[in-house]
Order: sequence, then structure tokens, then C-alpha cells
Amino acid sequence: MNPLKPGSTIGILGGGQLGRMLSLAAAQLGFDVAIYTDEPDSPASRVSARTRVGNYLDEAALADFARHVDVVTTEFENVPAETAQALIAAGARVAPNPHALAVAQDRFDEKSYFTSAGIATPPFRAIGSQEDLDAAIAEIGAPAILKTRRFGYDGRGQIRIASAGDARGAYEKLGAPGILEGFCVFEREVSIIAARGWDGAIAFYDLNENEHAGGILSRTTLPARVGADVERAAQDAAKRVMEAFDYVGVLTIEFFVMPDGSLVANEMAPRVHNSGHWTIEGALTSQFEQHIRAVAGWPLGSTKRLAGVEMVNLIGEDAEAWPALAADADARLHLYGKRDTRAGRKMGHVTKLRF
Ligand code: AMP
Repeated sequence: MNPLKPGSTIGILGGGQLGRMLSLAAAQLGFDVAIYTDEPDSPASRVSARTRVGNYLDEAALADFARHVDVVTTEFENVPAETAQALIAAGARVAPNPHALAVAQDRFDEKSYFTSAGIATPPFRAIGSQEDLDAAIAEIGAPAILKTRRFGYDGRGQIRIASAGDARGAYEKLGAPGILEGFCVFEREVSIIAARGWDGAIAFYDLNENEHAGGILSRTTLPARVGADVERAAQDAAKRVMEAFDYVGVLTIEFFVMPDGSLVANEMAPRVHNSGHWTIEGALTSQFEQHIRAVAGWPLGSTKRLAGVEMVNLIGEDAEAWPALAADADARLHLYGKRDTRAGRKMGHVTKLRF
């Protein structure tokens, strides 16, 4: 693809904080951003040139959006794959492609895909009934985690099953088609952020070490406490996934590092990722600029890390500490402009660099 000229318009599906940070990065390169979201007054729309508020399945509105943008990308993975297909049918260029979006939206398809690509996962089974669950527990054993196949994020839609007795009634409680995963007693969690351009060029950021609390990312630090072989294995997995999908843009894969040093893939996100927020200050090219460069057909930027990094999420009322954080000369404060504070909601983050 020929590089988009500055002044071109990049369409983003979704209006959350990832869209907001993508939009700011796009503006730095001279692009306009048009947001398509079903949420009026979104964090992204308040920093973007234009917003269209519409339903993700409104084909007429999507066709009109397609006519006014030069490329379309997404900022959250639960945009229906049909939305991307409708945009392509209307003549838009869409990256990443609908196939990658569709696979990443379904935890069972995603893990099946990892398996077919030779990437290890926890043991897993598709669960469509209580009988399936009982049979899967008998095979995989407990402890295990029952998750919804779709629309789960930040630990939502998950039931921990400590012993076979906990499985009783669990399918009804889940209330949707699920996946049972064996519980991994991991040493640590890491994620890789990679980017691929239209020309097939690939770039990797250093591995992120992640801590979760209540299923939500709380802290990312770099360098991750893993050896070069673990880093290479993560890069190899990301490369295989991106090439198999003919992927364009930033992609994230989250892994468990097992006590023997092997990697087990937990999930992938076809987008920029919370564990990569440190790249705004800590890398020569942020993940947001990298994604914009990739989808716009520009050369990928350098992923060089500039320092040791700690990124802490501000969840719910954590963000009320903003006066103290603003007064901390070492803290780079990011607030997402969300109107309502709710428990478990990502309101901002703070990055500190260690030189
Ligand atoms: P997820 O929403 O699937 O990313 O899960 C959120 C967090 O729950 C993960 O980052 C892990 O800390 C934990 N978790 C999820 N699946 C497993 C598993 N199969 N074994 C152990 N911990 C898990």
C-alpha cells in the first residue's frame, strides 16, 4: 500500500482510552482521526477531529463512514467482525482484517488457533452445557477456570472451579457458551507487543512483565525477569500468528511463564494493549504511533526501549490521587477523561522510567 499522506483520515472503531491514545499519536503525524462509536461523548471522540455515533451493525452509517476515511482500524476487539466486513464491502481498507478480529473474539477459537499454530495453551474444552462441564472437569481436572467464550475482559465472565464440587450449577451461573481451562500455576505473566506493516515488516517491543489483581492488569514492569530464550519464543509465536493472519497493525499476546521456563499462551488482543502504555515515554516509538504507522502504510518505527519501566494502572478511585501524582516529578500521569468513576474501571495510568 502507498503510504497515506499527512492530512489523510484514519477511522477508528471504538471510543475508549486506546482510541484516545491512538488519536493523539495520529495527530502527531499530521493525520485526522474519525471515531465510530456507539457511545456519545467518548474518551476518544473528545480528542479526535470527527466522531460518528452509530450502531456497529448499521450498514448505511458504516458505508457513509467508509466513504470519509482512508483506512479503518479498531481500538477494542469486541467490534463485531461483521462491522469490518461491512466497511470492506463499502470499499474501505480495514486493518487488522476481520478474520483476526473474529478469532480473537472467541476464546475457544483463539486457543484452537494457537494450538494449530504450534503455540502451547492451557488444556481447554468448549462448554455448551452442564454435561460438557462435568465431562471436561473429569478430563482436565480441578482447579480450572470456566470463562465465557465471548465478551469477557478484565477477568469478567470467569468462574474459578477449585474442586469438582464447585462445578455444580456453574454453567447456569456463567449463562453463556463457555470454555473450561486448566489452571496454570505460573511463575509470572508476560506479554509481547508486536507490529506488522502492509509490506510484511515486523517489529517487536521488549517483553512486558504483568501483574493482575482481580483479573485486571495492575502493573507492568520492564525488563521482564526472563531469559533471552523466553523472549525469542514469544517473538516467534507473535510472528507466526501475524503471518498466518496476514496481520497489519499492532498485536499483543499474553503468556504465562511456567516454572520450567516454557510459555503458555493465554490470549491475544488484535490491537494496542494496556501492557504497552509505557511505550509512550519509554520507547522511541510508542505502540500507538507504531499502530498508526502500520495501518497507514508508513515504515515501522524503532521499538528501542529507553529505560527501566514501571507502569501502574489507575483503577476506579485510584485516579482521585491525581493531585499527588501530578506533584510527583517522576510520574508521567495519563487520565482518560472518563466522566464516571466506577470500581474496576480503567481511569488512567502512571509511568515511571528508571535511567
Ligand atoms: P483473562 O481475562 O483470560 O486474560 O484472565 C485474566 C487473568 O486471570 C490472567 O491474566 C491470569 O492472571 C488469570 N488466569 C486466566 N486464565 C488462567 C489460567 N488458565 N490459569 C491461571 N490463571 C489464569
